[in-house]
Amino acid sequence: MTALGRPQFLVQFSEVLMKWRCFFSFLAAKQGKYGQEVLEQKLDLEQLQAFLEKLGAEGDVRAWFAGEKLSSSGTIDILDWNRLIDERMKVPDLLVVPNLQSGRLEPLLSKFTEEEEQQMKRILQRLEALAEYAVENSVRLMVDAEQTYFQPAISRLTLETQRSFNTHRPVIFNTYQCYLKEAYDNVSMDVELSRREGWCFGAKLVRGAYMDQERRRAAEMGYEDPINPDYESTNRMYHRCLDYVLEEIERSGRANVMVASHNIRTVKHTLRRMNEMGLTPSDKNICFGQLLGMCDQISFPLGQAGFPVYKYVPYGPVSEVIPYLSRRAQENRGVMKGAQAERELLWSELVRRLTSGEIFNTQSL
Ligand SMILES: Cc1cc2nc3c(=O)[nH]c(=O)nc-3n(C[C@H](O)[C@H](O)[C@H](O)COP(=O)(O)OP(=O)(O)OC[C@H]3O[C@@H](n4cnc5c(N)ncnc54)[C@H](O)[C@@H]3O)c2cc1C
Repeated sequence: MTALGRPQFLVQFSEVLMKWRCFFSFLAAKQGKYGQEVLEQKLDLEQLQAFLEKLGAEGDVRAWFAGEKLSSSGTIDILDWNRLIDERMKVPDLLVVPNLQSGRLEPLLSKFTEEEEQQMKRILQRLEALAEYAVENSVRLMVDAEQTYFQPAISRLTLETQRSFNTHRPVIFNTYQCYLKEAYDNVSMDVELSRREGWCFGAKLVRGAYMDQERRRAAEMGYEDPINPDYESTNRMYHRCLDYVLEEIERSGRANVMVASHNIRTVKHTLRRMNEMGLTPSDKNICFGQLLGMCDQISFPLGQAGFPVYKYVPYGPVSEVIPYLSRRAQENRGVMKGAQAERELLWSELVRRLTSGEIFNTQSL
């Protein structure tokens, strides 16, 4: 996605989205909902209006959320709240609140400038052109996840495309990085949105590739580290997110997931859960992904057992691809263990062939 538009625009848009989400968490905490799961946090509109007025905010909150469902429940959740982001196109200076530093009234969400709107349109058009090409060729399009200062915008734009293209089957897949503390919230929010809006959820689940960079940036800039405290927490988060999506697949049959991992425990966990839920490889709604040249000892048996398996092929100038692959190999515990296992397998096969006199393999795959 970072190649489809100006990265600086993605950074700015991400900041707006993060600010908007943080403000929701702040309001939820004010209504005593701190610590609840994000979809459980329902804001009472009466209390919200009163609180915002006390803050000095301008605008009729109830009017923003006018709708049958809302008027009967009298509450809104994070998904209703996020819908207001779309409204910023129509309503100038939505939600004017005091800036705690300057003391001045400022819009929490200001209208896009002409240039920003153009940027947004161009990125969406390019993404749509790729999505149309994917549809024509009956393939799926996976949008990679990047650093947290880009990711909210990437997810948001991907979601827009999913709304248009995932109407009958999941064509566009968003990527969720389970090393993030907020990974489960992100997955559950998007699954719930797909249910409410009636499109097919598609996810690639990864652990995440930018851990050191994220931790360093958080320490340098003085904000909370967005990454789980340790490797085991990331493993638990991965399996929690995966279980949630598998349950959605079992329930609706319309969602799809790619388990993009070299971790053998994760692959076994997926197979066990599929077995327990009665999900079969022939349903083709769960697939696996590994990088080309890495962990073939996981990919090949999965493929032979009938599971859809994809090998990701990084391509580009050698000067960029080699550093990319060596970073993946270094950060990747599964690969390092896998490389050792692969060496042992190759060695035992070599010994077998030499001792049996069968130098060339005659078995076909
Ligand atoms: C098909 C495919 C597509 C991918 N696409 C993306 C993508 O779009 N975006 C992206 O960011 N990455 C992507 N990756 C890379 C991925 O995020 C991981 O970096 C890589 O796969 C290693 O994780 P693992 O699950 O294979 O195994 P493991 O080796 O078991 O896990 C290593 C990972 O665990 C996490 N971890 C390690 N130590 C700690 C710690 N102390 N605290 C918290 N967490 C820790 C890190 O995420 C680390 O990369 C992709 C990988 C594959 C195979």
